[in-house]
Amino acid sequence: MKPDFYSFTLPKLEQFLEEIGEKKFRARQLFKWVYGHKITNPELMTNLSKDFRDNLNNIFSFELPEMLFEKISVDGTRKYLFDLGDNLSVESVLIPGSGGRLTLCVSSEVGCNLACKFCYTGKQKLKKRLSAGEIVAQYYQVSLKLPEDLKVTNIVFMGMGEPLDNPTAVFDSIDILTDSLGFCLSRKKITVSTSGIIPMMPLITKSGTRLAVSLNGSNDKVRSEVMPINKKWPIDQLMAACQEYTDATRDKVTFEYVLLKGVTDSIEQAHELYHLTKRIPCKINIIPFNEHPNSGYSRPTDKAVDKFQNELIRLGAHVLRRKTMGRDIYAACGQLTTAQKSSNKELPV
Ligand code: SAH
Ligand code: SF4
Repeated sequence: MKPDFYSFTLPKLEQFLEEIGEKKFRARQLFKWVYGHKITNPELMTNLSKDFRDNLNNIFSFELPEMLFEKISVDGTRKYLFDLGDNLSVESVLIPGSGGRLTLCVSSEVGCNLACKFCYTGKQKLKKRLSAGEIVAQYYQVSLKLPEDLKVTNIVFMGMGEPLDNPTAVFDSIDILTDSLGFCLSRKKITVSTSGIIPMMPLITKSGTRLAVSLNGSNDKVRSEVMPINKKWPIDQLMAACQEYTDATRDKVTFEYVLLKGVTDSIEQAHELYHLTKRIPCKINIIPFNEHPNSGYSRPTDKAVDKFQNELIRLGAHVLRRKTMGRDIYAACGQLTTAQKSSNKELPV
């Protein structure tokens, strides 16, 4: 099988070309064409020698995963489904924000073995760790689809899967997306969200991207109940890992906290959450639970969410409430699924 072009970082491409007897500088030329000019047809790469051009389609596959559909929510959120072959597909979500911000939420895996109780993706066992190319392709396809005047400004690894369970592909994709010859995205505009695979967290620090941590519980008892990973890496170790990130980067960490009615939304828990995070430069992003079939959890009322948020504000926390986007097209946090193309049906909200 031909290697997928979009999985090569620039240094890996240089090395590969040298190994097959081609000139190293061709890698830079190819990056400029493919990512800089968005040209993937070798015939149009006019500054390459005719022989190399003619051979390119034999060396690499330039095929991007097919976009099976785009759905647009009433609030402007767009959801895309990509075909990965083998009857697998993966979703990305594009979320408009204020001041022209356009955030693409990408997936790193199909399914997820960490099995957080409230998460729709976590209900499916891991089916596939995406390649770097399959991650890059989500951004590539979406930018090709957007009108000229619109540009993805931010990327968050908050779609399907746990990025730190697939680190090589995730950090290679980040190297490709930020390469100055291509899309040239800023590392500070990329956020990697993790459920807390602690030994891998220094990779986020090293990559220069921003860290988000799914906390979702204010003590070990409740966190272990909703996120089984907490039994392996409990809260005190997680907080120490976050502190290492903030010490090294001088950046804030974002704590995501899903509000589950009667499970994580009490005022005592707001207090615990405040005390847990108060020594770490951070912001807390509270996310009212997005419901999905047979989850066994429900979303607190808006009043209960306000109460929880206001208590944190009163205590002095920097807290934001994640506006729920794209619920009508099943694109909100934790609602992404589709291990099979057949699940391309609308799901009940
Ligand atoms: N695996 C990574 C990234 C993907 S999940 C992680 O866990 O951080 C992205 C975010 O969605 C996480 O913060 C998770 O807690 C949240 N989430 C999952 N299911 C949800 C649901 N049903 N409603 C609201 N948020 C959810
Ligand atoms: Fe996996 Fe994140 Fe969902 Fe947990 S919340 S099951 S880590 S995708």
